[in-house]
Amino acid sequence: MTLFGATTIVRVIVSGILLVIGIFSGFEYNVNLIVFLASYVIAGYPVFIRFLKAIWNRQPFDENFLMTVASIGAFAVGQAPEGIAILLFYQVGELFEDYAVDRSRRSISSLTDLLPESVNLLKDGEIVGSEPEKVMIDDLIVIRPGERVPLDGIITEGSSMIDTSSITGESVPRKATVGDTVLSGCISVNGVLTVRVTSLYADSTASRIIDMIENAYEAKSKSENFVTKFARYYTPLVVLGALLLAFLPPIILSEAFDIWIYRALTFLVISCPCALVISIPLAFFGGIGGASRLGILIKGGNYLDALSKVDTVVFDKTGTLTEGTFDVESIIPDDISEEELLRIAAHAEFHSNHPVAVSIKNTYSGEIDGSIVGSVEEIGGKGVKASVGGRNVLLGNESLMSAENIVFERPDIFGTVIYVGVDGVYRGCIVITDRIRHDSLQAVSMLKDAGIKNIAMLTGDIEIVGEHVGESIGIDDVYADLLPGDKISIVERLLSEGRSVAFVGDGINDSPSLARSDVGIAMGAMGSDAAIEAADIVIMDDMPSKVPIAIKISKKTRSIAFQNIVFALSVKVLFLALGALGHITLVEAVFADVGVAVIAILNSIRMLRISKYRSQLKDLELQKK
Ligand code: ADP
Ligand code: MG
Repeated sequence: MTLFGATTIVRVIVSGILLVIGIFSGFEYNVNLIVFLASYVIAGYPVFIRFLKAIWNRQPFDENFLMTVASIGAFAVGQAPEGIAILLFYQVGELFEDYAVDRSRRSISSLTDLLPESVNLLKDGEIVGSEPEKVMIDDLIVIRPGERVPLDGIITEGSSMIDTSSITGESVPRKATVGDTVLSGCISVNGVLTVRVTSLYADSTASRIIDMIENAYEAKSKSENFVTKFARYYTPLVVLGALLLAFLPPIILSEAFDIWIYRALTFLVISCPCALVISIPLAFFGGIGGASRLGILIKGGNYLDALSKVDTVVFDKTGTLTEGTFDVESIIPDDISEEELLRIAAHAEFHSNHPVAVSIKNTYSGEIDGSIVGSVEEIGGKGVKASVGGRNVLLGNESLMSAENIVFERPDIFGTVIYVGVDGVYRGCIVITDRIRHDSLQAVSMLKDAGIKNIAMLTGDIEIVGEHVGESIGIDDVYADLLPGDKISIVERLLSEGRSVAFVGDGINDSPSLARSDVGIAMGAMGSDAAIEAADIVIMDDMPSKVPIAIKISKKTRSIAFQNIVFALSVKVLFLALGALGHITLVEAVFADVGVAVIAILNSIRMLRISKYRSQLKDLELQKK
């Protein structure tokens, strides 16, 4: 609970008690007025302050205007309790909203907390793991491709593209090399860096990132604030209506002014959209909350909204639809021993976190000696170039070999082939295969059930492997042999066709596509720091079948929010009409609003019920075994 939440609760309670005392005490009029005024100010002062600020900024027509004018009006016509009730009710609505924001913020910052957990500290030429808090100024640390920079520092060795988007919002990575400063929180995309630390963890940029993400969240939740947008039109309209009601009928019908002024004020009080204020954020809160209980983290209500409109889902292959843990199928050396080929490959991959690299390193049974690994460059979507024991090793796919003019032989075995060149000469290849995730097939069919017609798969892997995976799980649209840039081009082409695109990915190479699409969904366990940072939605346990579930939740949330809006507005219009004609007392109007809010709340709480999805997921889990 934030401080705001706690003080609001206290204010609501104190003001409520005073209100009850005022109503039932039977004090004489003047004493009672003081009790009511105290209750009124305690309940309403944040609203009054915002009202004054809005006037100062020359944009007075928001919900605060309505609250203030209407509650003063209620006092003016001798209906003080109703005026207080409106404000109290509004504050309870804000409490709900605050709670919702607080909860999702906590789930996001716990996510970022996971990231810079350990540092590769360089001590006497050896890399040892350490905690960022323990690193001192002038210590040397090593940052591998795809890792987040844990502490601010200056590069002393190596060069890399740096993704600074989490600090600057600039999406294009920039090149950094010896002598350049790197800030913690940035992500080193492709090179290995040695960095001399220039600030302690507590003073470094890393701690500011969490604030930044929180701010981003707040900015986004403001833009999604339907109520504020709505109030910009609704308020002037209602005020105009009240003015007309106060002056037109008495002039036209030549009746007494006081009845109509009274009715106009009643009209204003009735117009307060309290139920609406509560019911919409609550629907989204329910959706985000329900999803988070299923291990689907949604970074804001606006993404839930965007997800409900998605008509095209694009998957990355490796690590997303497949497990990303490769089995080595065969090792085919060329004029070299099998053991030596694997030793060279494992050393060239020393710094890489790519699933291919991890598998090769796991297969090599010997000791990997980091000190013989010199400069390393990771070429996204292709492979790595590394100096191992003074020899230039090239390791990766066909296009990398062709680009470096190495003549290779394609083996006649199904799988992803990793070719190895040493000092410009072909030395053999390693064939690896990946397992398709156990729920990928269901994920695709569930998506089709959910009404998603266009499903595509993108991969940097070769055509036959891509086609095989696509066929096994029912995706016809397969694009293979792609470089990271090609993936964005395809996403951009789909966007330019007017489609609403969700991109689901895991890897370092995917983060631009995650950021570029309408909704970026990252695999949380497999995913790199960069991918989780760029994504709008994170699936914590990497199950692709949670994509269709998230879409279903988003559609349901939208329809519940819509039901709430229609219901609250139609009741409001009805009561406004009755109020204008003098058929409604203020007490009745306030009670109607409470009734509408309760029904809207109950409607929204339906979103937290997820047992249907949970049992669906359990079935999938059982099939795995
Ligand atoms: P995907 O799109 O399937 O996730 P990537 O774009 O990450 O795949 O990589 C495409 C291909 O590039 C891989 O299938 C592999 O052949 C090669 N590759 C990429 N990184 C490496 C690496 N570190 N070592 C070896 N090969 C790599
Ligand atoms: Mg990938």
